[in-house]
Amino acid sequence: MSDKRKKEKIRTEFRKNRTPRRRQSDLTREYHVDPDQQDESVRKESVTGKGAQTRKRTVVGDAAAVDETGLAVHPDVDLTVCQLGRVLAVHGLTSTLETDEGILYSCATRRLLKTLMTEQRHVVAVGDRVWFRPQQDNSGIIERVEPRYGVLSRTSRGRQHVIVANIDQLIIVTSAAEPNLKPHLIDRLLISAEKGRVQPVICINKIDLVAAADLQPLAGVYGQMGYPVIFVSAACGTNIETMRRRITDCQSVFTGQSGVGKSSLLNALAPDLDLRVAAVSSNTQKGRHTTTHSQLIRLAGGGYVVDTPGMRQFELWDVDRNEVANFFRDLRSYVHNCRFPNCTHTHELDCGVKDAVADGHMDARRYESYCQLAAGE
Ligand code: GDP
Ligand code: ZN
Repeated sequence: MSDKRKKEKIRTEFRKNRTPRRRQSDLTREYHVDPDQQDESVRKESVTGKGAQTRKRTVVGDAAAVDETGLAVHPDVDLTVCQLGRVLAVHGLTSTLETDEGILYSCATRRLLKTLMTEQRHVVAVGDRVWFRPQQDNSGIIERVEPRYGVLSRTSRGRQHVIVANIDQLIIVTSAAEPNLKPHLIDRLLISAEKGRVQPVICINKIDLVAAADLQPLAGVYGQMGYPVIFVSAACGTNIETMRRRITDCQSVFTGQSGVGKSSLLNALAPDLDLRVAAVSSNTQKGRHTTTHSQLIRLAGGGYVVDTPGMRQFELWDVDRNEVANFFRDLRSYVHNCRFPNCTHTHELDCGVKDAVADGHMDARRYESYCQLAAGE
C-alpha cells in the first residue's frame, strides 16, 4: 500500500455512517421514498452506511474528486500511516479529532487540502470524517476529508460555509410554553432540514406546562406530512427515553430558539454532558448563551450530538425565496393543479394550492407560513 501505486484498490474498514435505525412509524417513510426530495448522488451518500456494524469498502487512491459541497476531498493518502478520525471541534486552523477508539488528536490541515479547497471557508468542518497522519503528542496532519452527507451550511458572500457535516437528524426543539410555541419557526427549520437533506424531528419540550391535548392538532399536521413529533419534558423526564433511543447511534443537531430547553434536554438525555443551563430571564423570556463554538459530543450509549450554543434559528436559514415552495411537502402535492407553471401560490388565479387551503385540504396556518417565508420574512 505505498503512495506510488496510485490506482491500487485498497480494502479498508469503515465504520458505517449512522442514520436513525428506529423509524417509529410509517410517518417517516415518506422522507425516504419521495423522489423529489433527494437527488441520486445524495441519496447514495445518505443511504450507504446505514446500520451500526462496519463494512469493507474499496478506496481508490486517486486524484482529487469533488463532493456535493464543492470540496475536493480525495487526494491520495498513505493508509499505512494514516488513521480515520471524526472532527469534534474546529478552532481556527486546528481541529480536534477523535478516533473510533476514543483517542483525541489535535490536528493541522495538509497544505494540499487547503489548496484544493475552492468554495469553503474552512476545509474541515465539525462532523467530518477525515484521514490524518498522527504525529507526536497526539498531534497530527489531516490528509483527506471523506465525502459529506447531511450538511448544514449557510452562504456568506457567495461561499458555502459548512456549519456541521454528516448529520443524520436535525432535532427541532421548541417549547410548549415559556417561550410560547412558534410554529412558524418550526416551518423555517423544517426547510433548512429539507434543504440539507437531514431527517428533521420536531421535539416539543416543556410539555409539563400545558395540556398535551391542546397541541395534538398541530402535531397532527406535521405527523401527516411524515415528520416525527415528540412531546417531552426535560424537567419531568417525560419521553426522555424515547428521545434517547431516537439519538442513539446517530449524529444529531439540536436547534431552536434560546430558552426552549436545549441544554436541559441534552443534560437529561446524557447526564454526563453537564451543559450549563441558562436561567430564563422573566422579563424577556429568553435564556442566555453560555458557550461560543460548535462541537460534537460523544454519547455514552453510541452516537454524537452537536452542541451549537450560539446557533439561532435564522443562521440555519439559507434558502432562496423561490425555493421555499419545493420544501413545503404539503404544498407541493397541489402545485400540479395551478394554472401557471411559475405560480407563486400567492396572488395568482386558478392556484391549486389556494384551492387546497380553501377546501380544507391544506392547513391554513402552514399556508400562511409559506406566504411569509416566500416573501422573505
Ligand atoms: P436553551 O437556551 O434552549 O439551552 O434552554 P435551557 O436548557 O437553558 O432552559 C431554559 C429554561 O427553561 C431553564 O430555566 C430551564 O430550567 C427551563 N426548562 C427546560 N426544560 C424544561 C421543561 O421541560 N419544563 C419546564 N417547565 N422548564 C424547563
Ligand atoms: Zn399556485
